[in-house]
Amino acid sequence: MNAGLATVRDCIAVLEESYPPGWAQSWDAVGLAVGDPDAAVTAVHLAVDPTPEVAAEAVAGGAGLLITHHPLFLRGVHGVAETTPGGRVVANLVRGGAALYTAHTNADVADPGVSDALAAALGLRDLRALAGADSEPAVCVAPVAPVAPVAPVATVCRGLGRVGELSAPEPLGEFCARVARALPSTAGGVRATGPADRLVRRVAVCGGSGGELAGAAAAAGADVLVTADGRHHHVLDAVGAFPVAIVDVAHWASEWPWLAVAAARLRRDLRARGRTVSTSVSAIVTDPWRLHAPSR
Ligand SMILES: [Zn+2]
Repeated sequence: MNAGLATVRDCIAVLEESYPPGWAQSWDAVGLAVGDPDAAVTAVHLAVDPTPEVAAEAVAGGAGLLITHHPLFLRGVHGVAETTPGGRVVANLVRGGAALYTAHTNADVADPGVSDALAAALGLRDLRALAGADSEPAVCVAPVAPVAPVAPVATVCRGLGRVGELSAPEPLGEFCARVARALPSTAGGVRATGPADRLVRRVAVCGGSGGELAGAAAAAGADVLVTADGRHHHVLDAVGAFPVAIVDVAHWASEWPWLAVAAARLRRDLRARGRTVSTSVSAIVTDPWRLHAPSR
């Protein structure tokens, strides 16, 4: 192996310092899903979802490693025939010489993690854990001791969600426009429970499906919770029970800001080991909703 050339194994080693697999939920499937750990990597591609289109994009761009937030498979799989989307992803990556690695719920609870990136995109300050300040929630377990780290492990487990402050209060309507500007465009856009003139200063965020954190957001004094996948009865119950507005965005959009952060950490931590890769972030919108006709 040439000095300076990274392998998939090198990339995994630094990724697991930032996102220890032991922090993932028990039902999750994180880590290397496709590929040879000893394969050389010069280019790394990052995306939220390992769809066939994303896999094709990674291979076309010459990536030796595709890092995704969501796992390719979460349930038992009995084959990877190219008659299924998952099979097409595996085949395309293997033929193209690209590995697939996932950091999912372990990246959700890491600090900096998925919700930190969302909070930063919204311009929040003074970030802290949403699920109990300084008390680590049960989902975080001690990571397996990293093997010979070359730099102090700078990531800690903070649990799901963050709460922070806007630099100045603004009405919920303006805040929704801020969210829409900060995140990549999707058909569904940004929805909020209202009212539009409700003042927002303290903001809770949770990338992905974080609706169950409405109570924690209210307990933290947040005026609003920004998250995704809001469901009718759940949101009605939440805004009835807690003095907090819900801002609902596309699941994909809420997690996309983390990709650039993960890419920068990967480059930085590989550089500390004398390894270099280039990184790229997918702009393919993998939110499943593609059309939106505003109702009258
Ligand atoms: Zn997600």
